[in-house]
Amino acid sequence: MRPILPGAMLGVLGGGQLGRMFVQAAQQMGYRVTVLDPAADCPAGGVAEDLICADYTDMPALQRLALQCEAITTEFENVPAESLRRLAKHCVVSPDAQSVFIAQNRVTEKQFLTNNGFAVAPFAVITRQQDLDDEDSGFFLPGILKASQFGYDGKGQKTVQHPEELRAAYAQLNQPVCVLEKFMQLHCEISVVVARNADGAVMTFPPAENQHVDGILDISIVPARVAPELSQRAQDAACRVVEALRYQGVLCVEFFVLQDGELLINEIAPRPHNSGHYSINACVTSQFEQQVRTLCGLPLGATTQHSSAVMVNLLGDLWHRGEPDWSKLLQHPTAKLHLYGKKEARPGRKMGHYTVLAADTASALQDAMIIKKQFNYLLTHPS
Ligand code: ADP
Ligand code: MG
Repeated sequence: MRPILPGAMLGVLGGGQLGRMFVQAAQQMGYRVTVLDPAADCPAGGVAEDLICADYTDMPALQRLALQCEAITTEFENVPAESLRRLAKHCVVSPDAQSVFIAQNRVTEKQFLTNNGFAVAPFAVITRQQDLDDEDSGFFLPGILKASQFGYDGKGQKTVQHPEELRAAYAQLNQPVCVLEKFMQLHCEISVVVARNADGAVMTFPPAENQHVDGILDISIVPARVAPELSQRAQDAACRVVEALRYQGVLCVEFFVLQDGELLINEIAPRPHNSGHYSINACVTSQFEQQVRTLCGLPLGATTQHSSAVMVNLLGDLWHRGEPDWSKLLQHPTAKLHLYGKKEARPGRKMGHYTVLAADTASALQDAMIIKKQFNYLLTHPS
């Protein structure tokens, strides 16, 4: 592919925080960006050169986007694959519709993974109540019932202990197609952001160790505190995923690490990932710059990590008494604050994050936890 050079207009479907950080990376390199998002006050809209406020299926709006952009990417997997297919007739689109189609549905995702030899947690596809009465469903209990589509941050899934709970959960989720997954005893969770460019060059970022609270990513510790051999295995698997998809772009692979060191793939996201935000401050190239590079047919940037890092998400809960006092965080000279410009702070809503840098992960974690405790104190001691 002929490289698309700075100065060009790029497009991004979705104007959330991932779209915003893509825009910022692109602008830093001299590109201009048009965002398409249904919400007029979306985070990326505030920083992009242009915002087309429309639905992801609005054909005239997609047409306009295609006309004014040389290349288009997406910030989330729920863009209809058909919209990407249409756009691809007019300009460069990455990731491709087929990869997004696979990743946007837990059933096609798991089929892709198992067909290509990747280990996943034992699962069953549930399409009707009757499937739950199957003698075998007991094998998956205790388990997690997950809607096949549109789940994020632990939404659209329920932990179930016994058959009655499972039936109730299926009725409650009210989604025709679900996946029932066996609940795994995890040693930890790690993720690998990987990029593949138009020439087929592949590069991974160092694995992040992820801790979730209530199904939402809370902190990422990078590099993950796992054996070098396991870290390498995860990076190799992430490379094989993008090769199997013949993927162009940035993708994240979420892994479960079992007690015995076995690696299972939990899910894949065809875009930059929350657990890769550390790369903005701790790596030579960020995951968002890498997204720009892959989209524009450029060589990949070095993913070398120059500082250990701990990233902590800032959820809307912290805003219960108004804007938190950032001066406390900013007193820490190696804490980097990122706010997404969201006007309304709702509980559980990702409003921003901070990344603490240090020479080693233990120090980064210690500093990150000192800051976190100060915020949590405010949370648990309402005035
Ligand atoms: P989301 O799309 O919301 O990120 P995930 O499938 O990644 O959904 O699940 C969110 C989190 O729930 C995981 O990161 C993990 O902590 C936990 N989880 C999900 N599935 C399992 C499982 N089969 N066994 C144990 N924990 C799980
Ligand atoms: Mg997940």
